[in-house]
Amino acid sequence: MYCPRCRVEKLNGRFCSACGVKLDKIPTCGYCGTEIWSTAKYCSGCGKKKEDALDKATSNESILKEAARQEEVAKKKKGFLKRLLGM
Ligand SMILES: [Zn+2]
Ligand SMILES: [Zn+2]
Repeated sequence: MYCPRCRVEKLNGRFCSACGVKLDKIPTCGYCGTEIWSTAKYCSGCGKKKEDALDKATSNESILKEAARQEEVAKKKKGFLKRLLGM
């Protein structure tokens, strides 16, 4: 984690120890996972356009969410069947 204002390296807390800026989660590239600065135009890890990289990251996230949701539904169904069969 790097401070977006003064770019102090390897910060662990929620605030920068050098300038006190709040360290929000930095969005990462959906293709390579490199952190993308708000000032960046392209991903420094793979050269994709920032918009594409963030779009991809967002769709990755929704895919993961959808997968988790479906797993949850499957679990519930299983539980329901078990109860049904256990009667
Ligand atoms: Zn700082
Ligand atoms: Zn990238």
